[in-house]
Amino acid sequence: MIAAMELGGTKTVVAIGESDGTLIEEYRFPTTKPEETFQTAIEWFAKRGVPTKIGIAAFGPVQINPKAANWGDILPTPKPHWSGFSITKSLLEAFPGVEITLETDVNAACLAEARIGAAAGLDNVVYITIGTGIGAGVLCDGRLLHGALHPEFGHLITPRKDGDDFAGACSFHGICLEGMASGPAIEQRWGIPGGQLPPEHAAWDTEAWYLAHGILSLLAIAPPERVVIGGGVSQAEGLHEKTEALVRKLAAGYFPAVENSPYVVPPKFEQEAGIRGALMLTGM
Ligand code: ZN
Repeated sequence: MIAAMELGGTKTVVAIGESDGTLIEEYRFPTTKPEETFQTAIEWFAKRGVPTKIGIAAFGPVQINPKAANWGDILPTPKPHWSGFSITKSLLEAFPGVEITLETDVNAACLAEARIGAAAGLDNVVYITIGTGIGAGVLCDGRLLHGALHPEFGHLITPRKDGDDFAGACSFHGICLEGMASGPAIEQRWGIPGGQLPPEHAAWDTEAWYLAHGILSLLAIAPPERVVIGGGVSQAEGLHEKTEALVRKLAAGYFPAVENSPYVVPPKFEQEAGIRGALMLTGM
């Protein structure tokens, strides 16, 4: 039995399926305290059989390096109760010998979109999600990018848009991509949640401006052939087109990849990219 788990900040998804990303059955429930969340997941799996492989897509920061002594641990996070919790330990206790592959939620979603989704067939893909936070998964030369931690695209320090005097919503940096362009940043800057701002509102030019600068930095380091942007905030009408046009303008003819059309696209699997990617991890 091939199983998968997407551990999100507010919701958790468990599933059984195939390593090509095919979902057979899934169950969604709220993420609460760690022990309770994992008990629910383990009971759901156990009712369906004994998993031989589990792919996990987890929120970060998380230690995903399998060579590290604290592999599977949630690293210090403002999210109450989760700092230091081991994602892998309880699953290994419940299912001894199970083969676990652990990734970030955004890297898993990137994998699904790059293999069977909105960027199918491409080996250089970035998946960005914009909601309460901003994160990105990066597939570079067909491999998911890690480094000493994993990409923390949301905390990329950005220039400030002319005329924008918003202090920034990130408690660590103020002005970083997440601080300037996440859902809470939009709501704090304009006094209205993004979902209630009409498509012609200036908020969306500001949003596209920060996103385009973030993508420009990616182009300089791990150039994507296509950028997939998902998450609640990304559902604003016309945001992908607006961002794509601005990225091309800022690229100033220097980065050939941006001439790919379409370049900035919505995901194929809005709610399911993470869990499908988690299933696919079991085949890597
Ligand atoms: Zn930050």
